Amino acid sequence: MAYDLVIENGKIIDGSGIPGFHGGVAVSGGRIVEIGQVSRAARRVLDADGLVVAPGIIDNHTHYDAQVTWDPLCTFSCYHGVTTVVMGNCSLALAPAHEEDRETLASVLSHVEAIPLEAIRAGVKWSWETIPQYLDALDRRLGINVASLIGHSAVRRYVMGEASQERHATDAEVAAMRAIVREGIEAGAVGVSFERNLRHFDWNGRLAPTNVASDAEIFAVAGVVDAVGRGVIQFGGDRKLGAQVARSSRCPVFYGNITQQAVAPDRWREQLTEAENMMRQGHRAYQFVMPRPGDLRYTLKTAQHFDALPSWKPVMLLPLEQRKQAFRDPEVRARLHREAVETPNNPRHAGDFTRRWDLQFVFRPALPKNQHLRGKSVAEIARDQGKDVLDVFLDLALEEELETEFERREVNSDEAAMTALLTSPYTVIGQSDGGAHVVFRTDYSYSTYLLSHWVREKEIMSLEEAIRKLTFVPASLFGLLDRGLVRPGMAADLMVFDPETIAPLEPGEAQDLPGGAKRRKQLAQGIEWTVVNGQVLLERGKHTGVYPGKVARNSASQSRSL
Ligand SMILES: [Zn+2]
Repeated sequence: MAYDLVIENGKIIDGSGIPGFHGGVAVSGGRIVEIGQVSRAARRVLDADGLVVAPGIIDNHTHYDAQVTWDPLCTFSCYHGVTTVVMGNCSLALAPAHEEDRETLASVLSHVEAIPLEAIRAGVKWSWETIPQYLDALDRRLGINVASLIGHSAVRRYVMGEASQERHATDAEVAAMRAIVREGIEAGAVGVSFERNLRHFDWNGRLAPTNVASDAEIFAVAGVVDAVGRGVIQFGGDRKLGAQVARSSRCPVFYGNITQQAVAPDRWREQLTEAENMMRQGHRAYQFVMPRPGDLRYTLKTAQHFDALPSWKPVMLLPLEQRKQAFRDPEVRARLHREAVETPNNPRHAGDFTRRWDLQFVFRPALPKNQHLRGKSVAEIARDQGKDVLDVFLDLALEEELETEFERREVNSDEAAMTALLTSPYTVIGQSDGGAHVVFRTDYSYSTYLLSHWVREKEIMSLEEAIRKLTFVPASLFGLLDRGLVRPGMAADLMVFDPETIAPLEPGEAQDLPGGAKRRKQLAQGIEWTVVNGQVLLERGKHTGVYPGKVARNSASQSRSL
């Protein structure tokens, strides 16, 4: 009998980290059945000459819980080689849900993760109450695979109602939460998620339920994964408490991310050392690193980061014409200069303006005559022109009616720091927040960015190692034991791409959310085929019309069903 699909002549990079090799990959019944020399004919043959055949990317931290119900492809992650997403992070989920709590769950998800509430209201067709029912509802129509964590906020709301956002739980309520988490994991959820972030509210200004829990409740509910012996714990916010949870559990715990920040230049090193120490002591304690830079773009019409400087704030709040006048006024400018250039940076105030003018770049000049400044830092232009940095910055913006687009490259952009963080065996690459922060962020392109920028251009690690970190590592840590490798017996989730051209494209905007809300859209180039469970989902970035995705269930439910 012929195979369903053979991808021939490609270079197979199998996800394990071993050097790539030439050969074919044969697929039958949604699984990989042969690699290397393929012994039979196939109903469909793809010629991957000059291309790499790798496992599909596993995005380990997303918030597609609502979006996946109206968009089973999970755009725009799927356009970056992603074949599986992990959702239900940061305590937020849409199950379990009593009918009367649907609006609250939507409200918390919307407010914490910056997903337009109208989109969730218009898009989600609720048909479930329990976690097993939610997973089964999703399983009916998926483009890519989704693995789901159980969100503690949803569970707490389900058990405690209004009180979930007001008080500590009783012993009986904690026991009820534990039972729900156990039922969810036995149905295939891949773990449970929590958060301790006292700035995360719903639309009514009340804390998300997880944030009202006592430490004891968090340990008790998280302890279910140890009792069942399967699943992971994701813990957002408070790193100290997250580390404590990691020390008390034998299951993988994801409890923070390490970010290089110009405003606090030594912090990433301390955090990396902490991650190393935890793992050397034998804990399964993981922290994420995002390969994409925090390349925030702004104009002097929209910038917010100067608001932290007392003499800048009133100026930035002026109407545009008066703001321009103030920027021209020599006395005002002297005051602005004192704070933004002469005052030394204070690393304790992370998030403030760094005063690093070498990290403020001209991204898009408005006038044709200024195009030669594109891509240069303000400090560099000041040196070239023999002018002061603030004069360069303000004069350019004034000449262009404050339309000049600048870019801050203060986060995850330092090459030495990022090389250390991305190549460390003690970090996990990811945390895209796909499906969240839809108006501002496109971190879901981290896979194509890693492969183009850090691997091809900067050569900080081999392609084999990068693929391993994007596929086999997250599959192993999240217990998705039949994914993340190109091996006979594994699910046939594959990304076939050109290593010379793969890259994210310049972001644009789409107005395609239910209810008409906008979001940032970023696609990729260089990916020929994305295969999910043996079927070609995307061909050169176009959906072929099939829905081969599945709920990726944890290994406990898999071994039970064998
Ligand atoms: Zn998150």
